Amino acid sequence: VDRQRLLSVVEQLCADLDYATGARKFPGTVAPDEAAGIADALHDEMEGHTAERARLAVANSVPIACGRACTGCCEELVIVSLPEALTIAHWLSRPENAERRAAFLAGYASWRAAAGDAPETIAALTVRNQDRARYAEAHVAYWRRRILCAFNLNGDCSIYPVRPLVCRDAHAVGSNERCFGDHPGSVPAVRIQYEPAMGFLRHAHMVLQAAHNAVSDEANRHEPLCAVVYRLLTNGGCDSTTPTSSAL
Ligand code: SF4
Repeated sequence: VDRQRLLSVVEQLCADLDYATGARKFPGTVAPDEAAGIADALHDEMEGHTAERARLAVANSVPIACGRACTGCCEELVIVSLPEALTIAHWLSRPENAERRAAFLAGYASWRAAAGDAPETIAALTVRNQDRARYAEAHVAYWRRRILCAFNLNGDCSIYPVRPLVCRDAHAVGSNERCFGDHPGSVPAVRIQYEPAMGFLRHAHMVLQAAHNAVSDEANRHEPLCAVVYRLLTNGGCDSTTPTSSAL
């Protein structure tokens, strides 16, 4: 996707906050690959912030406890907007990622059997941030069930280069011993309060929300990561207004 075109689309999406809230429909056109390109660019920018956050933590003698094969954060339910899901589905559709795609599709049924309909129930609580307290409670209850994200294979994220923004915001400090839901009294990891990253994330979520509302007919309806990517890859359950895998 042409970078100048993407910048222009982002500028237009940011011109009116109502596009992000869903109060007003974006009057222009955003193609699915443009929405995916916007998410991709935001992911890249977030990498710079997290790298700097990690550097500062180490410089201030605050050890980062995150490491390979630690899956604590991957047992939290990840809910995404359509642009991020499109980025992942697009990436998995490349020939070089065929094995990762096949592994995800093969493992999806187990994830769904373990999770049931809880992911959709929890995702529905995020619409317009109507009930943050109920969402937080449901999120922690789900995390305590220790259901690993279907993209996590043997401890590693199989979509690491295109993982969602929320997965890039995890940094446990000191120790990871409380990063798992079956540890007495544990709660999901608290993010390091690093203002440049937090400020960027607020902006990025607003842009993603506006792009989502422009590309989807279902404003503000975010979906569980595994479910929406599965749908995009298999085309099952896509309706006429939701981008299908043929649009990738
Ligand atoms: S997408 Fe990757 S990093 Fe995010 S929860 Fe799933 S396996 Fe973990």
